[in-house]
Amino acid sequence: MKRVAVIGGGWAGCAAAVELARRGAPVTLFEAARNLGGRARMVELNGRKLDNGQHILLGAYADTLRLLETVGLSVSDVLLRLPLQMRYPPQAGGMDFVTPRLPAPWHMLAGLIRAKGLQREDKLALARFSTTARWMDWRLNNDCSVNEMLERFDQTDRLIQLMWRPLCIAALNTPPERASAQVFLNVLRDSLGARRSASDMLIPRVDLSALFPARAAAFIERHAGSVHCGAAVRRIVASSNGWQLETGDPETEDGFQYDAVIVATSAWQAASLLAGHADVAALSSFSHEPITTCFLQYPPQVRLAHPLLALIDDARKEHWGQFVFDRGHLDAEQAGLLAVVVSASGDAITHGHEALSSAVAGQLAEVLRRPELASPSWSKVISEKRATFACTPGLQRPANETGINGLVLAGDYTASDYPATLEAAVRSGLRAALLALGS
Ligand SMILES: Cc1cc2nc3c(=O)[nH]c(=O)nc-3n(C[C@H](O)[C@H](O)[C@H](O)COP(=O)(O)OP(=O)(O)OC[C@H]3O[C@@H](n4cnc5c(N)ncnc54)[C@H](O)[C@@H]3O)c2cc1C
Repeated sequence: MKRVAVIGGGWAGCAAAVELARRGAPVTLFEAARNLGGRARMVELNGRKLDNGQHILLGAYADTLRLLETVGLSVSDVLLRLPLQMRYPPQAGGMDFVTPRLPAPWHMLAGLIRAKGLQREDKLALARFSTTARWMDWRLNNDCSVNEMLERFDQTDRLIQLMWRPLCIAALNTPPERASAQVFLNVLRDSLGARRSASDMLIPRVDLSALFPARAAAFIERHAGSVHCGAAVRRIVASSNGWQLETGDPETEDGFQYDAVIVATSAWQAASLLAGHADVAALSSFSHEPITTCFLQYPPQVRLAHPLLALIDDARKEHWGQFVFDRGHLDAEQAGLLAVVVSASGDAITHGHEALSSAVAGQLAEVLRRPELASPSWSKVISEKRATFACTPGLQRPANETGINGLVLAGDYTASDYPATLEAAVRSGLRAALLALGS
């Protein structure tokens, strides 16, 4: 069996290493940070366990869900499954759309008929969108921005503001004026357009490290692989029988000759590791979008009506929050902790973390009509500057193959019909594992 090294222990690298270990390959995983998980991990701050950013998964994330089971988790234990919904606080005058547990496409139809806060013309526009997209088999001849597509599909302003814009920003982390309509349609095809369970929204009950990376490490080690954290690979060196890795640390530099190396770092880090071996132009061409999560702690008895609520963002009013998660619905130990997500948060973070957390607390107090929410007892803003690549129309993404025998790429940015998501990272890692084994 081939000996394989994986550089980078985010979800792509962990998925690749688990798949290799499952197939009996001796695999070594190198991660530069002290812990695995990359952009989806738990961080410990003042004794509190928080995620580096609130994440949500979809029922359509088939490979990720399968992988969680492979490493020994029960998906129903670690993820709260909610039907597809877009619920605004009733006081805020938004909409209330929840799909009932009926087989597709009746769940969408019934959800639409029952939806509150939408006019008849909005509902007709949504039904028209769904029928036309199905008729087009969810494919555009030429990619364009999401805004252009919504205009062509004759969507109402209200539907765009309450449904399409927040969905687009949440799924692609790119505002609709700049986001790829084709990638948005791909996500809608696999969620709205597929069986009902694929459209479910899944929220982690446990922290992101416990959700997969920690289990992945245990699985790899149980299958005779090894995991080195705090081991940044500096150089990949071609040798007569394969590849060697330099970390500059005698403890992790094992001197092994690897038959294949999977580079599962972000694209720009891969470009520097592969320079001199492969053409790296395609790896350096991405631009990025930030995501910011604002954690606000209140007394444990503070609870929202639902685990997840949508918020209307409006920069003019400094209303930056787009979704609020009540962590108390997910984990009793986090009662009173609210996580407010600001995707594509470039403008929101320009005034600094303190200003943002007080603006977000003020937004909650105003839209929920609960003045006490303006004054959390504790708050923390975590901003990931390069959270995802900007998912723009016609974006060319590199394949897993580098064109060099034994060097393979993995990561959420490789060619895929999904945006930068956990599912894109996992799929890329699984594919890289097969390529590394030559299957
Ligand atoms: C705040 C935030 C919110 C998000 N929300 C969602 C969401 O709700 N749903 C969703 O599906 N997706 C979401 N995403 C996107 C998702 O987290 C990413 O798509 C995914 O985690 C990317 O995984 P990856 O393995 O491709 O890359 P990364 O996680 O970036 O992993 C790369 C790893 O390589 C390591 N590394 C780099 N250089 C070296 C080296 N030289 N040697 C060794 N190791 C190295 C890094 O330390 C890192 O751990 C979110 C992302 C962020 C940041």
